[in-house]
Amino acid sequence: MFLKKLLHSALLITVTIAMVLVSVPHGNAVYVNPVTTMKVGLYYGSSAMISANLENDVGSGYEFGYFDGSRRFVPLAYTDEIGITMVKDKNLFLTGDTYYDSKPSGSYESIGCFHVRLDDVFSSYEEAAEEASYYDDAFPGYYSGEWRICVGNYQTRAEADDAVYDLGLDGESFTGSAYCITVLLQKQSDIIFEFDTDGEYGLGVMPRSVNGEKTETWFRGFTYYGGFQYTRVDGDNLTVVNVVDLEDYVKGVVPQEVSPYWPEEALKVQTLCARSYAATHIDAHPVSGFDVCNTTCCQVYRGRYNATVESDLAVDETAGQYILYDGEPCETVFHSSSGGATENSENIWGSFVPYLRGVSDEQFENTVNTGYNSWSYTYTADQITEILQRKGYNCSDIIGITPTYTEMGNMYSMTFHDSNGVNWTFSRSNASTILDSDTYGKYTHSQRFVITGSDGNGGSEGNSLYINSMSNPVGSLSGMYAIGGDGEISTVTSSRSVYVMTGSGIEQFEVTGSTQMQTGDTYTVTGSGWGHNVGMSQYGSYAMAKLGYTYDEILKFYYTGVTIG
Ligand SMILES: [Zn+2]
Repeated sequence: MFLKKLLHSALLITVTIAMVLVSVPHGNAVYVNPVTTMKVGLYYGSSAMISANLENDVGSGYEFGYFDGSRRFVPLAYTDEIGITMVKDKNLFLTGDTYYDSKPSGSYESIGCFHVRLDDVFSSYEEAAEEASYYDDAFPGYYSGEWRICVGNYQTRAEADDAVYDLGLDGESFTGSAYCITVLLQKQSDIIFEFDTDGEYGLGVMPRSVNGEKTETWFRGFTYYGGFQYTRVDGDNLTVVNVVDLEDYVKGVVPQEVSPYWPEEALKVQTLCARSYAATHIDAHPVSGFDVCNTTCCQVYRGRYNATVESDLAVDETAGQYILYDGEPCETVFHSSSGGATENSENIWGSFVPYLRGVSDEQFENTVNTGYNSWSYTYTADQITEILQRKGYNCSDIIGITPTYTEMGNMYSMTFHDSNGVNWTFSRSNASTILDSDTYGKYTHSQRFVITGSDGNGGSEGNSLYINSMSNPVGSLSGMYAIGGDGEISTVTSSRSVYVMTGSGIEQFEVTGSTQMQTGDTYTVTGSGWGHNVGMSQYGSYAMAKLGYTYDEILKFYYTGVTIG
């Protein structure tokens, strides 16, 4: 009996320890994001819209209201319609499916922005809506906190004034402020609601759920979770914002930034990057009034488009996890492929970020086809002179180029020497863009490249590769094959890992390293990778995931000194 008792108390102790462990996981700080709702700009600035349609996909009807300072939706009104159109409150003209704010040439229906507003003030949407149903062509509106009814729509105030008299109404002519938003039946001219807080709030539209199902709503070819907000920045066209749960936002980003068919651990890597990026970019577009936009400026986001069970799972299984440095979410920059090594942030952008250190990932990237394992292009010296001059550098003939490389072997700077003895130096990210030319359609795709002159190092023998004969140097590795000792034929995929047979055995051929002045009639840029080389390489992550690494191992490899929490 004594033994049984002892076992029982041992069990209790185990339970107690387990509970302690749960409250302090691994001793790491856990970041709790105070912002769990994202405002994602869909149309804004020059793409702001005259009209914006919504249609229920999952769900039926909508609530109208606004999002308060804590991003909570405050409902005011509702409709059972499943297709609605939000427009700016201006004189509009409907031809076919399209609303115009100037008169089209053919036939049209007009939606005038002048109305007769009745004197009665109602205490609720329901009261105003019921009263409006007794009139022809009337609708309820929320104007600076008051529930009112408007009758008719006219293109001028004079017409609205006449209508007050003609229809014998107790009201006066009225038009909304420059911030007023009108809701119509989709692609029709019937007004069902107006919302005008004189710019204090945008109109919030929240799709209504059926049986508690999570709503999905069509907007411009994609379906979205969450609600929508419409504002008129400076009284202009509609800025359209998707107001969406942070985790649902991340579910929209992951399948846009990488293939949703990549290995699960690579999807989780992208998930944590997307979530950490979101946490560090709240209010990143303050003028337009949202956090992040839906383009590569922030992170590409198309609602549910391309999302798969697997990409959703990567988000669900890591819910609430961030990439942290000193307990704070990181600026998780990434690029498509490093080409063999990432780079310290200060060597690309000039500013030191402790967790953005260069790492060599050649052993991983070389195991997959990145599409940019190797690339090269050649210019004549005259073309280089012309490119520099066209970019505004008043140089004479370029007669030599001196490159310098970082410790990681990436390009750090190129100094162009001209015939007047003047030097033109381009460093960091400028080194990888200076030779880009739309005219010649030639671009430097990453920071991982070398430049060699046709005469080599100042006329002495350079780091060229020779095949069979010394008079036949190879300018590019693309399309090169090597035969190994076992007879296997493989592509030569990187400019950094070329091995050659010599009299004393196999030696690695160093393409990098020459910081002597390059000269010649032509100059060849040979590189690998795609992107800016800072932070995580997406193809490197993909390769590591295929090799069996977990998402936290991959993230800690690419982001120096970070924790996951
Ligand atoms: Zn942006």
